[in-house]
Amino acid sequence: MKPSPLTYHRPRSIDEACRILADVAHEGKVLAGGQSLIPLLSMRLAAPAHLVDIGSIPRLDAVSASRELGVTFDALTTHSVLEADRGAARVQPLLGRGLRLVAHPTIRNRGTTVGSIVHADPSAEMPAVLALLGGSITVRSVRGVREIRSTDLFAGPLESTLEPDEIATSVTVPAAEPGVGSAIDEIARRHGDYALVGVAAKVRVEDGAVAEAHMTYVSAGELGEVVDYTDILRGASATDDRDPLWRNLSEFARERIDTEPDIHATARYRSQLVAALTARVGFAAAQDAVLDGAAVHVSAGGR
Ligand SMILES: Cc1cc2nc3c(=O)[nH]c(=O)nc-3n(C[C@H](O)[C@H](O)[C@H](O)COP(=O)(O)OP(=O)(O)OC[C@H]3O[C@@H](n4cnc5c(N)ncnc54)[C@H](O)[C@@H]3O)c2cc1C
Repeated sequence: MKPSPLTYHRPRSIDEACRILADVAHEGKVLAGGQSLIPLLSMRLAAPAHLVDIGSIPRLDAVSASRELGVTFDALTTHSVLEADRGAARVQPLLGRGLRLVAHPTIRNRGTTVGSIVHADPSAEMPAVLALLGGSITVRSVRGVREIRSTDLFAGPLESTLEPDEIATSVTVPAAEPGVGSAIDEIARRHGDYALVGVAAKVRVEDGAVAEAHMTYVSAGELGEVVDYTDILRGASATDDRDPLWRNLSEFARERIDTEPDIHATARYRSQLVAALTARVGFAAAQDAVLDGAAVHVSAGGR
């Protein structure tokens, strides 16, 4: 199918883009890499009267990384560029680990990470990564600039708290802290498909044992919800996954996380994936903490 008729705008600055969005009120939609929006327009699941393509705005594709300020990436920074950025990988390794699971390289070459986050798809990896890491998103409109904390960003599936006239200009996530490890893994039907279930974990280890553990889910649970497993895992060995606390975690996660059926998987199968992945990814994050930032290989299921 073809998109319904619309007026296409190609502003050359953020100010111009904000003016257009303000003029067209609720009738406009921002276009970045187009990897989600163009299919939606083609299927007529979205039918904005105005499309504001920010792709030609200069100086909107930077990445900066420092231990003090964390990692900041702009609205036109593609998944591929962020994934390859060595400073970002050093300062916050979970970004690159998550990005490697997003779609195929061709889509990562066009799709933007900021676009993925504001698109707020519960099956996408980067909203889960942002929720777990915390941080904020900077948005602009003719009314000025505001920061939205990651905890306030997700309103529901495919719904962020940006106003219709606002453009997200960048996202900032904090640097990895010493003693805190992270990991992400998922099961997908084929390489590049959306995950049937994915889990991202952040675990703090003290004296070889878990002191704090938080996780977020892809294609399971609530979008953006950070689950605190500290009470279940406190004291679990960071080097021996035969510790019964890791097995308890699996069962607890199965009961704690809601799963929905779709054409790809039953709710029960998803629930089994939640149980298995929660323990596997949690333990990988604990090992990562012990290795103090050295990447722990977690194989991407089905890839
Ligand atoms: C075949 C295929 C497979 C895919 N598989 C995966 C996958 O496994 N995992 C995954 O996470 N994603 C997957 N994707 C989606 C892809 O990663 C996202 O489409 C992409 O990251 C979104 O960024 P974009 O720049 O393309 O956004 P667009 O498609 O341009 O926009 C998406 C939405 O975000 C809004 N938006 C974008 N940028 C801004 C901004 N700066 N300010 C305000 N609003 C904005 C748009 O208005 C629109 O509503 C897949 C896509 C395809 C086509």
